[in-house]
Amino acid sequence: MSLIKKEIKPRLTKNNPEFINSFIHEENRTDHPYKLALHTYNQLQETSQTREEAYVFMLEDIIFSSLYATFYEQLLFTIKENPEVGPELITVFQKDQEEREKIISGQTENHLAFVLNEGYCPGCTACENHGDVAELIALFHNGDFEFFKTLYLGMQTIQFAMEELIYDFAIEQTAWYDEFSPENVLEYRQRIIRYVENKKAC
Ligand SMILES: [Zn+2]
Repeated sequence: MSLIKKEIKPRLTKNNPEFINSFIHEENRTDHPYKLALHTYNQLQETSQTREEAYVFMLEDIIFSSLYATFYEQLLFTIKENPEVGPELITVFQKDQEEREKIISGQTENHLAFVLNEGYCPGCTACENHGDVAELIALFHNGDFEFFKTLYLGMQTIQFAMEELIYDFAIEQTAWYDEFSPENVLEYRQRIIRYVENKKAC
């Protein structure tokens, strides 16, 4: 499913697994996922020379966190299928961080060039996965800074929240493992996006 459809389309759900609202936990702490996302946004603004540069940096980070979230999702699905070794899977996943970030950085570079050059990507090695970012071409070239800011904050919050969900909560909350279905994880991500949209509207 494309990045935009995943994050923007709201949907209703009947069940409410506990992990879905775990990201709201102690909203006022300084390391809350949304606060961390705001912090990275401010840093990005400070390190950018121009608004155009900030706009490209946001796009790059959106792609990076989206790819990262996919790795987190795969881990959650694997835990659901193999709950008896869930904590071990998390430990192994954590050890692979450096290697994973190298892979994600490489893919991000390719996707970024693809979006910036409007689909032209000579020498690229990530073409089979451009489908997920193809919609960003039109959106990005529309120049809607606010739209991208919301998407940026949403994706950053998702990345921080999933990191916390896995390393701080799931490592102990083995009772949650059965709830890590694709539907529930999708709802979790969409709930974070709605949370960020509401925060921004305040
Ligand atoms: Zn390509």
